[in-house]
Amino acid sequence: MRIGMPHMGNLHITLKTLFERLGVDYVIPPSNSQRTLSLGAKYSPEGLCIPFKLTLGNLIECAAMGADTLLMPGGNGICRLGYYAKVQQQVLREIGYNAEIVELGVSERKLIGFMQMIKRLSNDASWYRLITSFRFALAKLHALDAIERSVQKVRPAEQVKGAAQELYTSAIEAIDGANDYASLKKIKKSYLAQLDAVPRQSRANPLKVRVIGEFYVVLEPFSNLDVEVELGKLGVEVRRTTFISEWTKFSLFLNPLGINEKERYQRAAMPYLKHDVGGEGWESVGEKVLHAGEDYDGIIHLAPFTCMPEIVAQNIMPTTQEDIPVLTILCDEQMGKAGMLTRLEAFVDLLERRRRARLACNNVRRAYGSLLRD
Ligand code: SF4
Repeated sequence: MRIGMPHMGNLHITLKTLFERLGVDYVIPPSNSQRTLSLGAKYSPEGLCIPFKLTLGNLIECAAMGADTLLMPGGNGICRLGYYAKVQQQVLREIGYNAEIVELGVSERKLIGFMQMIKRLSNDASWYRLITSFRFALAKLHALDAIERSVQKVRPAEQVKGAAQELYTSAIEAIDGANDYASLKKIKKSYLAQLDAVPRQSRANPLKVRVIGEFYVVLEPFSNLDVEVELGKLGVEVRRTTFISEWTKFSLFLNPLGINEKERYQRAAMPYLKHDVGGEGWESVGEKVLHAGEDYDGIIHLAPFTCMPEIVAQNIMPTTQEDIPVLTILCDEQMGKAGMLTRLEAFVDLLERRRRARLACNNVRRAYGSLLRD
C-alpha cells in the first residue's frame, strides 16, 4: 500500500512524521501551484469550490506518483464536503487511476476512531507505536503553529520586509527534519528567539485584522494568494483562530472543561443565526460578533467562491449591530493577485482612516470632559 494525501498548510509535515514512524509507504504531492489548480479545475464538475479543485489536483498528482490509497478529509456535514471523496473517486476512475480514496472523517469516537483508522492503514501497528508516533507528530504540529503565530506578529513590524517569512520557511524545514523531542524543542526555542530578535520599525502600533472564514482557504496560503503575507507587507498584524492544532483540540480530544472556541463562536452568532449552515459559516458570524468588541481594526473574511455556508455568513455580517469593517475575499481559480492587492490596499486605507477618526474623536471627548470638570 502506498498512501497519498492532499496539502493543507503544513499538515503534510505532521502526516509524514506519523507515516514515517509507522513504516507506511507514502507520497507527498508537489507544493500547490498553478499546475495543481489547473489540473483540479480541468476535471472538477462545474461550480465546485476551490478546496475541491485543489485537493483533486493533489490526488491526481499522488496517483501519478504511484499512490494506491488516497486520504481525503470527509464527513457527513451539511455542505458539499460530504460528497468530495465520492465525486473525486469517480473522477479518478474516469481518467484512468485505480487508487482508492479513504475518507479521513472524525466521528463521535474522536481520537479513538481516528487512531483505529490509522492502525488499519499502518498494517495493524501496535498501539504503543501508534500512540508514540501520533504524539510526536502532534508535537511537530504544535511547534509549527507556535512559530507561525510569532511570524504573524513580526511580519507587520519588521524593518526588512520578508525577514520573518524567510525564518518561517527555514523553521518549517528544520521541524520537518527533527527526529526527537529534544531537537524539536531546541529548534522551536531557537526560531522563536530569532523571530523575537528581528529588527522592528519604531512605529509599533500596527493595524490589527482578524482573518476568519472557511477552514481550507484560511489554512492553505496558495488558495488565498498568501493574503497573510500581503497584509504583513502592508504593515497589518494578522490574528486567527483557525490552526490545525486548535482543531485537534475539539475534534479529536474530549473537552472535560466544557465550552470550546468553536462553541463560543456559535453562541455569539445565535442572535443572527441559530443553527449550523455547514463548513464554518456559523462560526464566521460568531467571530465577527465577538471580535468587533475587541481591539481589532477590521476583519478579512475568506470564502471559496460558491461556498454556501460562507455565502450565508457573508450576507448576515453586514446586518449585525456589532460594528467592524469586513472585507470578504472570494477565492477561486479566477482570482487575480493584482485585483486582490488593490482591494487589500483600499481596505487597509479605510482602516487607517477609521482608526485616526476614532482617535480624534476620543481626544475631543477627553478635552470636552476636562473642560466640563474645570
Ligand atoms: S465549507 Fe464551502 S468550501 Fe468548504 S467544502 Fe463546504 S462548500 Fe466547499
